[in-house]
This record gives sequence, C-alpha cells and structure tokens, in this order.
Amino acid sequence: MTEPMEIEETDNPVEDDQYQEPVNPVVYFGAKWDSPQFDGATEVSTPVGGVCGYCSELIDDGDAGTFSNFGIVNAPVHLECMLRAALGSPAHLRGECSCSGAEEPEDNRSWREQGAAVIQMILDKQGIFSNTDNKEQEQG
Ligand SMILES: [Zn+2]
Ligand SMILES: [Zn+2]
Repeated sequence: MTEPMEIEETDNPVEDDQYQEPVNPVVYFGAKWDSPQFDGATEVSTPVGGVCGYCSELIDDGDAGTFSNFGIVNAPVHLECMLRAALGSPAHLRGECSCSGAEEPEDNRSWREQGAAVIQMILDKQGIFSNTDNKEQEQG
C-alpha cells in the first residue's frame, strides 16, 4: 500500500487569482450614479456630440450616462434614459399603469424627460445619490 502523495504547499498564484473580484464591464461618463451596478465601473470622458441610443438627443458636456448594454451595442445613453428603460415609465413607478390594473395615462413627454422624472422620483424616495444632505432640506 502506497502512502498518499503529500501535497506540498506552494505559492500558487492561480489559487489567489480565483478570488479576484469580477471586473465590472459597466462604463460611465459624467456624475456617477450611486448604485451597485456602478461599483467598480470604469469612468470615461463624456462622448459629447454622440447620439443617445434611447432618446436620440445629443450627449452634451455635463451630461451623465453610460454605454448601453441593454440591446443597443456601444451607444452612449443618458443616465436618465437608461433608468427610464430599466425601471419603467413614471406612471409605472407610481403604480398607475396596467401592471397595477390601472390604465396607463398618456405621457407626451420625451423619453429623456420621462427619464428625468424617474430620476427625480428615485431621489425623492431614496436619496440614492451619495449626497445625503439634500433630503432633509427638501422636506421643508
Ligand atoms: Zn437620452
Ligand atoms: Zn407597469
């Protein structure tokens, strides 16, 4: 009967590599949205003059956004447009759409304007942006 081979403890770099955090493929520009989705995301310079993949408006200096990975390949998108696409319409978020048995009211605002409304709803509700001071002030 043979002795089981003794496994020497070595400095095995492969073992350590297995525990590396996965690289976040999300790329963003402008202000960083304080969401787990953006943890470890890569900041890039704002693609000024690029066409937003959702609202077709141009990306302007000072806009915040990301590069869509929701079916549009490599298109820069405004943050608000992305959130509008990901979270649903303002009416949906208010619980006033067909999901809740209601008839969704018509919303003539542009996709981007609806996105801005979605962001405002999130901010009002959760203060999801990292600055927490605003919350108290807005109450008054
Ligand atoms: Zn847009
Ligand atoms: Zn809905």
